[in-house]
Amino acid sequence: MDTKAFTRALKQSENYHRRGFGHAEEVAGVMNSAYQSNLIQEIRNNNYTLSRGDVTIRLAEAFGFCWGVERAVAMVYETRQQFPTEPIWITNEIIHNPSVNQDLRDMQVGFIPLSEGKKNFSVVDKGDVVILPAFGASVQEMQFLNDKGCKIVDTTCPWVTKVWNTVEKHKKKAYTSIIHGKYTHEETVATRSFADKYLIVLNMAEAEYVCDYILNGGDKQELMAKFYRACSAGFDPDRDLEQVGIANQTTMLKTETEQIGKLFERIMMKKYGPEHLNRHFQSFNTICDATQERQDAMLLLVEEQLDLMVVIGGFNSSNTTHLQEMAIARNILSYHIDSVERILPGNRLEHKPLHEDLEVKENWLPEGQIIVGVTSGASTPDKVVADVLEKIFALKAA
Ligand code: SF4
Repeated sequence: MDTKAFTRALKQSENYHRRGFGHAEEVAGVMNSAYQSNLIQEIRNNNYTLSRGDVTIRLAEAFGFCWGVERAVAMVYETRQQFPTEPIWITNEIIHNPSVNQDLRDMQVGFIPLSEGKKNFSVVDKGDVVILPAFGASVQEMQFLNDKGCKIVDTTCPWVTKVWNTVEKHKKKAYTSIIHGKYTHEETVATRSFADKYLIVLNMAEAEYVCDYILNGGDKQELMAKFYRACSAGFDPDRDLEQVGIANQTTMLKTETEQIGKLFERIMMKKYGPEHLNRHFQSFNTICDATQERQDAMLLLVEEQLDLMVVIGGFNSSNTTHLQEMAIARNILSYHIDSVERILPGNRLEHKPLHEDLEVKENWLPEGQIIVGVTSGASTPDKVVADVLEKIFALKAA
């Protein structure tokens, strides 16, 4: 499919909306009361620190809702105002935050249900309003909804669109897009739908494996078995790794994306010589500012003397998980929770250890004076963070 021509035509359609509906002011008031917090503002104003009783909170200097997410959520509220009685659907969780998604359900905004792991679009009728989330939707989904005559409200973050444009550039010159991301993540699923040839690498180890193959050859069957769910149809590593371009899931660790880009650059230079590098390698900076800022703030915070770290965000939120990884890398006792409800009676905490299932930790808050580092992912409202802090203060004061 000519994805570029399709998206250009879609954007001109009267059924396609991506700029809101002129209700921004009313919605801002609702959003403020639903998601903002005076406590968090107080901490921000106080150099990101607040002490009460035995507890000192050190908040990361960049955390929580990014503007892309805020914009997407505001657009959903605006959409409900614009279409007060029409069925409204979202192709996926608008963002990875359970409380926000519940708010949307309460506004009678439906999520496309899954049947046997696949989205069941049969619930959508002609004329229904369908919202595309902040991390986008695949071009096939957009085409389906357009053909069906739905009104499409596109909240895709411009940073994600920037990655798609990069993939289009790769395609134009017949480069294979090497996408640093998770092949099951909705954003990466959307990104790869714009690519012609692609290979998705999860981390540096996978990138090194591929680069070794490029430089030294290897076991083609083994490579294909390893990446069979993470490459384009008909992918041939002997043919399709001669020209590569780098793209990324915007919420991956910035340093890792950079390292992966540099590794491919080095390998292509070694294989083809510096004078031919441009013919074999392309890279554009598509790391989103918000992800970068949150990671940089976390790097500073984990340098401090902290007794423990609380990382707040959806369990399937990629950028939140990365924040927790950073605390763990510094050997800081770190708990990933998604809401205040995870703090259980009796000094118990239900939390998600990295890459493991939920577990309950007894006596999670130490006795005496403690310094607690706190951060939250890009899809977490301040109010959720404030609720957690209030609960910690209350527990320690009891
Ligand atoms: S994390 Fe970045 S790419 Fe994702 S929605 Fe926020 S601003 Fe956009």
